[in-house]
Amino acid sequence: MTQTASHPSEQDYVMRWIRPDIRALHAYHVPSAAGLIKLDAMENPYTWPEALVEEWLQHLRNTSVNRYPDPAGRQLVTRLRSVMQIPSDQAVLLGNGSDELIQMMIMAVAGSDNVIMAPEPGFVMYRMISGFTQTRYQGVPLDPEHFELPLDTFLAAMEEHTPAIVFLAYPNNPTGNQWERASIEAIITAAPGLVVIDEAYAPFASDSFMGDLGRFPNLLIMRTFSKLGLAGLRLGYLCGPPALIQEFDKIRLPYNINTLTQVTTDFALSHMDVFSAQAALIKTSRQALATALAQFPALEVFPSEANFILVRSLTGKADAIFEQLLDQGVLVKNLSPQGGALRDCLRITVGTEEENARFLTALEIALNPGS
Ligand SMILES: *Cc1c(COP(=O)(O)O)cnc(C)c1O
Repeated sequence: MTQTASHPSEQDYVMRWIRPDIRALHAYHVPSAAGLIKLDAMENPYTWPEALVEEWLQHLRNTSVNRYPDPAGRQLVTRLRSVMQIPSDQAVLLGNGSDELIQMMIMAVAGSDNVIMAPEPGFVMYRMISGFTQTRYQGVPLDPEHFELPLDTFLAAMEEHTPAIVFLAYPNNPTGNQWERASIEAIITAAPGLVVIDEAYAPFASDSFMGDLGRFPNLLIMRTFSKLGLAGLRLGYLCGPPALIQEFDKIRLPYNINTLTQVTTDFALSHMDVFSAQAALIKTSRQALATALAQFPALEVFPSEANFILVRSLTGKADAIFEQLLDQGVLVKNLSPQGGALRDCLRITVGTEEENARFLTALEIALNPGS
């Protein structure tokens, strides 16, 4: 098809109608992992036992998709409440991944000069979604040496910026550490607005604020099934005071949790022992991997309460190590391009024992090229 000279081009429409701040963005890049050992995205490396797959398929056979899903996912929420021990006086909101919950919360406070605040380096979605919704975002730097949460600095930043929502990933991504509980409690108490504890890594962590719900009227707990082993289904959940959850629920798009996700996560929750055993195995492997990594004098290994380990190249070679691992078929996350305190850092998701062993062999070669 030819185009008449007078008709605007695609690019003309983009320039005229798409917001400049959106045009300036780069789409979230997910690298291809085809044929690689995939240790970049905090997925659970284990699939389901055959008997469980068979039982699941039976459930799916009895599921029909001609009707819309239950908009509130009631059966799933009931099961979640009991398995995850969500306090009964707290409300639950389901999201298409916790990313969608972050989006709902930020949309609910967006505009009118409200501020979203989070420690940095932290989970990128808090900043990105603030940008999409034209909401002010204020990062507060962690201590660049050990990624500890500087409480006084954080309290001062809250005083200065009066954040509508503070996001605290506990444990933190991409650093893997779990900050001091006393600091978190001090932030919840002093915060002028809402505090969301993002417990995406709860299956691997030694502490949780789930039991603290109800102690604070501004506290919300967000979790996801992604890191536990169901990343492909996209299910996150937000627990907190009913009055707040009710407002976020108004922004939720109808039927945001599809039928297959509802049925499958409900099924998975009735077999939590399988997933808990996988999480326990991952924690054991994490310890072994951390010990092995600590043998490399050229690396600094950071403590982790999550299913990944952050390391820093002490010789400034993160980019080269990343590429040499890739050449050997291992994909990790290179955080060095993000700069700042993450310069020379790589994030390695804990894989199966075999994957970890192959990674360590590749790393040995990457750290000693030409030898
Ligand atoms: C992975 C991750 C999420 C997003 O999880 P989804 O449920 O897959 O959207 C949220 N918060 C943190 C800190 C994460 O690392």
